[in-house]
Amino acid sequence: MTTPKEPVVIVGGGQSGLAAARATLSAGLRPVVLEAGAEPVGSWPDYYDSLTLFSPARYSSLPGMAFEGADPDRYPARDDVVAYLRRYSASIDAEIRTGTRVTAVHPRPGGGYLVHTDSGDNITAAGVVAASGSFGNPHLPVPPGRDTYAGEVRHVAHYRRPEPYAGKRVLVVGAGNSAVQVAYELAPHARVILATRSPIQFMPQRIRGRDLHHWLHVTGADLLPRAVLNRLIRHAAVLDTGVYRDAIASGLLVRREMFTAFTVRGVIWADGTDEPVDAVIFATGYRPHLDYLTPLGTLVDGMPRHVGGVSTTHQGLVHLGLEFQRSFSSNTLRGVGRDAAHVVAALAAHRSGRSRRWLQPMKRLPVRP
Ligand SMILES: Cc1cc2nc3c(=O)[nH]c(=O)nc-3n(C[C@H](O)[C@H](O)[C@H](O)COP(=O)(O)OP(=O)(O)OC[C@H]3O[C@@H](n4cnc5c(N)ncnc54)[C@H](O)[C@@H]3O)c2cc1C
Repeated sequence: MTTPKEPVVIVGGGQSGLAAARATLSAGLRPVVLEAGAEPVGSWPDYYDSLTLFSPARYSSLPGMAFEGADPDRYPARDDVVAYLRRYSASIDAEIRTGTRVTAVHPRPGGGYLVHTDSGDNITAAGVVAASGSFGNPHLPVPPGRDTYAGEVRHVAHYRRPEPYAGKRVLVVGAGNSAVQVAYELAPHARVILATRSPIQFMPQRIRGRDLHHWLHVTGADLLPRAVLNRLIRHAAVLDTGVYRDAIASGLLVRREMFTAFTVRGVIWADGTDEPVDAVIFATGYRPHLDYLTPLGTLVDGMPRHVGGVSTTHQGLVHLGLEFQRSFSSNTLRGVGRDAAHVVAALAAHRSGRSRRWLQPMKRLPVRP
């Protein structure tokens, strides 16, 4: 049995965890945020140095606090986002424990959870919000010959700046925003090839004089679920003011079909030729970082079972910050607040014993102990 005093434990103090904390307070519940890092600012300090937001400041706010600044149409830099999240966390009247990593979540007989941390705490919780992001779980493919390659291999999660690559032959793998941004940044310093499985799709940053995010907002495209969006756009698209297309057209940035295997000193292309490279940077995405949920048996190949962020296996467990959790904008600063309100409403309904539409899938799916 859970008691009215038991908190909702929020795992992760990034934008998702903070939005969840705010929504939890608004619902009259008590949040406790557990954050592994030193500050509740998520993974933003670890993103590469030159990163600026895709969206202008006016479309980059969490609920309840505008992204301040003289120019709402500017694209905030990485450190501006860190400063914004710092202010945002300070504005929330919630208990936030930093330096506390959740190691396991166990179900309690009769309801609720026992949350174990690396500092030795065992916290009883009425509900759990898994808001631990995916940056801690980069996806690194293993092409043939990977073990024999003597050069440097890293995921873009561990890339910071171009200078260490000066004069080197660098292969960047991937067709998404990070791959193209990093390859473009490296191009003046190194000999760069961008290796992709399919041609890169570009999306204009500005349309008829307005930023794309203005149009996503006014047309409602920001709220489209994945199934609908996939019918409109077949591949992930890279936002571009025109500089990336120009760089490819001018030969500054060379794009090739994905290589088939590593050699000791480089890679083999699809046409059988080989090419020496000093470093390979995989910008091949991330997977949810949820190993602490393993004891619940709710993960399939590391992915949670949920509908719109509400667990289909465990009542009182919800997720936040998943890619396409409910819409195109789910895993963004501008979109996570909507999902937070949704999943916390489900938690509150569960807490009060009310039967709600979003809990229906649990009746149909098997519940593991
Ligand atoms: C390179 C890059 C660029 C991006 N650019 C944009 C952009 O321009 N605009 C935009 O809106 N979005 C952007 N995003 C997407 C998204 O907004 C960010 O990834 C954002 O950081 C996600 O926030 P989050 O809170 O879900 O996860 P995170 O920021 O990753 O925060 C999760 C937190 O959980 C903590 N944690 C993890 N495991 C545990 C545990 N077991 N116990 C306790 N704490 C734990 C971590 O320390 C971390 O602080 C970008 C993402 C990347 C990778």
